[in-house]
Amino acid sequence: VRPAPHRLRSACAAQTPRALQDLQALLRLPSVADQAPFVTATAIAVADLCTRDGAEVLRLDRGGGFPAILARWRGRGPRTLLLYNHYDVQPADPEGWASPPFAPTLRGGRLFARGAADNKGDLLCRLAALRAWTAFGGPPCDVLLLVDGEEESGSPSLRGHLADPAAAAWLAAAEAVIWEFGGREPDGRPDLYLGVKGLCELVLRTTGAAALLHAAMGAIAPSPAWRLVWALGALKGPDGRVLVPGFHDAIRPPTAVERAAAARLPLDEADLRARWGVPALLREGGADPRDALLFAPTWTVTELRAGAGAPAVLPREAVARLDIRLVPEQDPARVAALVEAHLAASGFADVAVDYLGGEPAHRTAPDHPFVAAVAAAARQAYGAEPVVHPTSAGSGPMALVAGPRRLPVVSAGCGYWGAQAHGLDENIRVADFEAAALHMALLLQRFAEG
Ligand SMILES: [Zn+2]
Repeated sequence: VRPAPHRLRSACAAQTPRALQDLQALLRLPSVADQAPFVTATAIAVADLCTRDGAEVLRLDRGGGFPAILARWRGRGPRTLLLYNHYDVQPADPEGWASPPFAPTLRGGRLFARGAADNKGDLLCRLAALRAWTAFGGPPCDVLLLVDGEEESGSPSLRGHLADPAAAAWLAAAEAVIWEFGGREPDGRPDLYLGVKGLCELVLRTTGAAALLHAAMGAIAPSPAWRLVWALGALKGPDGRVLVPGFHDAIRPPTAVERAAAARLPLDEADLRARWGVPALLREGGADPRDALLFAPTWTVTELRAGAGAPAVLPREAVARLDIRLVPEQDPARVAALVEAHLAASGFADVAVDYLGGEPAHRTAPDHPFVAAVAAAARQAYGAEPVVHPTSAGSGPMALVAGPRRLPVVSAGCGYWGAQAHGLDENIRVADFEAAALHMALLLQRFAEG
């Protein structure tokens, strides 16, 4: 059975009400890392949804931490598509929300809740696409759905979970991956993302005297704050250049096709300057801000701390947290080792370097046939030309899921430019939810035939 596109469209539309109900039930569970019982309950709820929708389900927990759910739908064709989502969400302080973050609310065609966009909405619109196919005898290809429970914390247990032999056997069949997120531009065009940046998270720590001293003793007692600032200065210069030897060695520069895709991306510099309240955008890593955002590694100091604000006290410790975004072929653990070695060689052996963890980058070539299939399905579902981002500026366990075979991965989903993922009043638009479900349903057909 090869349903006509309009029949698939009405089948998806018919699934929307129930999918939105199931979505709201998931959104009522605050699956925030520090609320373990709710995270576990959400894993069970996701597994139940998949089971009820006809999938075989594995609960993966050999990596420790919160479980991942792996579901498999047997389709009618020989091919296997893997979908990646996550059921954990960012914390949400109800302060500032128009309606409570864990009381999902429909207002003006939008569904508001923490996790609506990131990432439970995408999970449910993919289930809606699979449900739409039941009217036509089931999905046209095998579908695997991997639902991570720790994405917002860097997926520390996922590698261990995926070592489960049953999971590994299922995943060995996957030929391509649809990643968790996506959205629409203000002009309605759908966004496709072909990769993520890598991440290396470091904490640098300096210590001074064991005793709490008057600031005047700074004349003869060491200052951890100065030590830390000088150490940071040894890592990156005021001109933006990273001074760590070897840091750039492994970098694979962007290809001509990736550069061309980046050059076509909408980026309104004046609008960003106005909205962010900054006089100019930085240009580290290229003449165009897109180059810095997508193709250059980025060093961001996300925390810098010394003292408790008391005047005339010499702090005993200073701490900096570094968020280093990586590009393809850089290895996060190696970056951490290079930083430590460079600090030691520059006279900062006293600076303790703690590697909190990381993930390598992953990118799929814009001219890969799988990208063409996802783009063609998007044209059909949205009636608009997709905007192809050669990579997202964000990170995630994409390289791990793509595996040593480096499967092609494309990210597409039901968000939009105003979805406020991680922010206040996170929301999705119901119309986008339905369109994204149709996109997935159409993609299954194209993929099965490809
Ligand atoms: Zn996410």
